[in-house]
Amino acid sequence: AQARVDQKAIVRDLSAGTPAFDKLTLARELTAAIANRDMFLQYQPKVHVRRQEIASAEALVRWQHPTRGLVLPGDFIPLAEEIGEIGALTLWTLERVIADQKILAADGHDLTIFINISGQLLADTAFVDSACAMVRSHGAKIGFEITETSVIRDPQVAIAHLQTFADVGITIAIDDYGAGLSSLAYLKQLPARELKIDKLFVLQLTSSHRDPLIVRSTIDLAHALEMEVTAEGVETQAALALLTVMGCDMVQGYLISRPISIDAFRQYLRDDRLK
Ligand code: C2E
Ligand code: CA
Ligand code: CA
Ligand code: CA
Repeated sequence: AQARVDQKAIVRDLSAGTPAFDKLTLARELTAAIANRDMFLQYQPKVHVRRQEIASAEALVRWQHPTRGLVLPGDFIPLAEEIGEIGALTLWTLERVIADQKILAADGHDLTIFINISGQLLADTAFVDSACAMVRSHGAKIGFEITETSVIRDPQVAIAHLQTFADVGITIAIDDYGAGLSSLAYLKQLPARELKIDKLFVLQLTSSHRDPLIVRSTIDLAHALEMEVTAEGVETQAALALLTVMGCDMVQGYLISRPISIDAFRQYLRDDRLK
């Protein structure tokens, strides 16, 4: 596949002082990396607070670049979206997750694995069809994390596609809640079973006066809408204790585990540190 690089974007970057050559090179390399499967996944567990067990895991994509080293998603997902490669990357991620899930199942672990879905893909019928076909044919337990901002762009189409995902058994989670555009009118209409409070609020939970109020009211709102709540960015015992009192259902963050390779995740499950 050829990188379809937006010429206007390159000119814009030039004027901002970023060498256009670098972006063009990175775009070519990214396209090749996706085609050559030079990407890999890390998994971060999500723990159920009351049940004291691993509830699910989130897959996060990484790019091992031959000379640049490890590239994190913040540095290439926006580019993949811009050059029209995010659909291919996400379908590869889904394929990889389904394969890894079979390895975990052979170890005796039956876990739903969540992947992040760019807003752009909620309007992409070809992506929706391919993703649903893949999940259905493997009978895989998959979750999609989406942001509200991506729904607000074209709510009718996005909500219809989310319903299609839910119909094939994909669990929908609202990611980064509180960080972007939010609309209670849409939130109510989404076939979402889970709401993830953005780490922005969780990281400062025990040091700010305002954030505990926001987190508590978000937990209550989600429960009123019959959704489970995950707090992401849980780094301290103090935050975990407060979230437990507030009735938060699930937690995710460095306190429990950083994102880790599939092999490290298998080891983590084997050690069963929660029990
Ligand atoms: P996200 O979905 O909100 O993912 C959570 C990010 O927070 C991850 O960064 C994770 O490593 C980090 N994190 C987890 N626990 C903690 C913690 O306790 N403290 C702090 N400070 N950070 C924590 P990462 O892996 O760099 O991913 C960044 C973003 O890239 C993700 O945000 C997600 O929006 C996007 N992304 C990752 N993989 C994919 C993908 O396959 N497709 C798409 N479209 N986006 C992806
Ligand atoms: Ca996420
Ligand atoms: Ca998030
Ligand atoms: Ca995020």
